[in-house]
Amino acid sequence: MPFSKQHQVSFEFFPPKTAAGIDKLVETRQSLGKLNPEFFSVTYGAGGSTRDNTKAIVLDGIAQGFNTAPHLSFGGDEKESILSLLEEYKTNGVNRIVALRGDLPSGFGDGSRLVHANELVSFIREHTGDHFHLEVAAYPEIHPEAKSYETDIEFLKQKFAAGASSAITQYFFNADAYKYFVDRCQKAGIDQAIYPGIMPIVNFDNLKRFSQNCGAEIPRWLSYRIESLKESPYDLTAFCTDFITELCESVLSSGAPGIHFYTMNQTEPTQTICHNLGLK
Ligand code: FAD
Repeated sequence: MPFSKQHQVSFEFFPPKTAAGIDKLVETRQSLGKLNPEFFSVTYGAGGSTRDNTKAIVLDGIAQGFNTAPHLSFGGDEKESILSLLEEYKTNGVNRIVALRGDLPSGFGDGSRLVHANELVSFIREHTGDHFHLEVAAYPEIHPEAKSYETDIEFLKQKFAAGASSAITQYFFNADAYKYFVDRCQKAGIDQAIYPGIMPIVNFDNLKRFSQNCGAEIPRWLSYRIESLKESPYDLTAFCTDFITELCESVLSSGAPGIHFYTMNQTEPTQTICHNLGLK
């Protein structure tokens, strides 16, 4: 199923560390901006480590006329600094936030200081009312620390009860994981939109490492197929682009309200996948 007018598309960036990285992001934003996304989002380094870079990219995006949403977590911050950041976002035209618990950078202890996302959502609602559309994270293959499938869905429900507006999922490569998850969420009484987060396959070695940490399963057949195409970059790109296009079609035809792309700050292959889905 291709995109229709009812579907929402959004693109995620991470804050680059170099001037060249920022130039590339600006170019990517310009290209993907032509696809008329609902918003761009900019991630927040573990523990708040990219606070200033995230803010700079978000505010620049807004200044250039792109609806841009910061990701935010308490990290190691006090309530006062989160409050002043929220105020700054509000006065500069930010109207959407991706609210997370986040993770602590490695070497920063056992994570016992982390503030769960439902508490951040309550905090933002308490201090800024309905100003922000609040996105939260959801995990079709279940968060790696979750006690069970059921408790993870209950905690997602708590995030909505605290005032979240919609959710974006962790990436996945099994469409069934998303479909089953949405079905279970609906049966648990969640009726807000759950947008599938889709990760185009760019650097497979990095993806394998990252997937182990975040609990996203790479199907065995997919892994074998990609490994076998490694020596033919053209075929590999074509295969991965087709695979992700089909994954998008599958979730859209199951009723997904749109797609959030983890772009890795690259125009391709996200742009081609969107074109394949009829978004021009
Ligand atoms: P929570 O919703 O707090 O859940 C974390 C764990 O605790 C889960 O196992 C859950 O079952 C459990 N839990 C939830 N609520 C409670 C509660 N009240 N009491 C007890 N247990 C609870 N990370 C970054 O560092 N920066 C980013 O910008 C970033 N962006 C992301 C965007 C998306 C769309 C997604 C899906 C993930 C993103 N992440 C990001 C990763 C995310 O920070 C990690 O997955 C983190 O470990 C959990 O964050 P959360 O908001 O889902 O946490």
